[in-house]
Amino acid sequence: MNHSRRISSDLADPHFQKKISLKPFTTFGVEAIAEQFVEVATVGQLRWVLRLAGSLPVHILGGGSNILITHPEVHGLIVRIGIKGIVLEKKFSHHVWVSAGAGENWHDLVTWALHNNLGGIENLSLIPGTCGAAPIQNIGAYGIELQDVFLKLEAIHLRTGARRIFYRRDCAFGYRDSLFKKELKNQYCITRIWLKLQLPPHRIHLKYGDIKRELAKENILNPGIHDVSKAVIAIRSSKLPDPAKVGNAGSFFKNPVIKTSQWTQLKKDFPDMPAYQVDDSHVKVPAGWLIERLGWKGKIFGQTGSYSTQALVLVNYGNASGSEILHLAKEIMRSVKNTFEIDLQPEVNFW
Ligand code: FAD
Ligand code: NAP
Repeated sequence: MNHSRRISSDLADPHFQKKISLKPFTTFGVEAIAEQFVEVATVGQLRWVLRLAGSLPVHILGGGSNILITHPEVHGLIVRIGIKGIVLEKKFSHHVWVSAGAGENWHDLVTWALHNNLGGIENLSLIPGTCGAAPIQNIGAYGIELQDVFLKLEAIHLRTGARRIFYRRDCAFGYRDSLFKKELKNQYCITRIWLKLQLPPHRIHLKYGDIKRELAKENILNPGIHDVSKAVIAIRSSKLPDPAKVGNAGSFFKNPVIKTSQWTQLKKDFPDMPAYQVDDSHVKVPAGWLIERLGWKGKIFGQTGSYSTQALVLVNYGNASGSEILHLAKEIMRSVKNTFEIDLQPEVNFW
């Protein structure tokens, strides 16, 4: 028995592949070749492949819905996370603790919660990707963020294989941000997350006008979590390109947070510029509005462009390369900076 077999703890050993196309593995669908690729189904398998990787760079892949690969080849080992299992861990009088393997599809977890009449994540319906990636950018939509329901996560250090638990307070969650996008970027693989979900009666979040409008259209006056989820799904399906048809990674940029004084100044030239208050001295400006105002919305450049119904989404119309999409993103950033003196920050992760 060789050494690698000895440390493989469970199931059949994962199958390493060399020089495979990554086109099917990201929702942008850009072509790139992975030097090495492996999928793991358990923490034991993950530890085993990390040991075999040695000093090779390791890239953790979930659903690939927030990654733009900008080079024709990705050097190192790509580890796709297939760790499954949704578990009802503990029941209390008003809430439950639920855990999900990092490889579970996020929307499947939302569907599972709805099926079990558990509230808290219905506003996050239809966000693509895996549960393991959800804490990376503290996924959010329609006034709810992962951190609102998050308890803890389990992660494995990519170099040492050490297991660590991160509680909510450890994760430095922010607006589409966490410790795992900053100090601990590319250092850990998240293997399981734990959430606190509500038993009925549920708190319903209708802060975003679009949800209220959608519910009113359906004559729903007293919405429950299933109604909210349906409304979110309807809005998202009408606005966002389906990655199965048009390559994209959702919002390419974050909505910039600027000083209220700068916004007041900008309003003189752009009276209809929207903003949402963040704190006493800052507002958040919808990046989509800035991009649309500069005429990028719906424009096509070769195989890429800004989407026709949501300017914030950059798309691959078929055979765009990652560098072509990146070039467009940089042009948009430059024009936003020139006109508004605002620095757009990409939300997408670059490989
Ligand atoms: P991937 O794209 O595979 O990875 C993203 C990053 O996380 C990479 O850096 C990767 O290395 C790292 N990573 C992935 N899994 C792990 C893990 N287990 N451990 C450690 N690191 C890991 N996001 C929102 O917040 N709100 C939205 O409403 C939203 N809408 C979207 C709509 C569309 C149509 C699309 C295409 C994307 C949208 N997104 C949204 C972005 C995306 O769905 C989320 O960021 C999602 O959490 C990414 O999950 P993933 O599994 O696809 O991650
Ligand atoms: P929208 O409703 O047209 O609104 C544009 C932006 O304004 C949103 O991004 C949102 O910022 C902000 N906003 C709207 N109403 C707000 C309110 N009541 N309070 C505070 N901020 C408000 O946006 P959309 O593009 O259709 O997206 C709807 C939701 O889904 C948003 O939360 C958005 O972030 C999320 N989404 C995210 C992605 C992604 O890839 N990250 C893709 C699609 C949709 P916030 O982004 O801070 O919410």
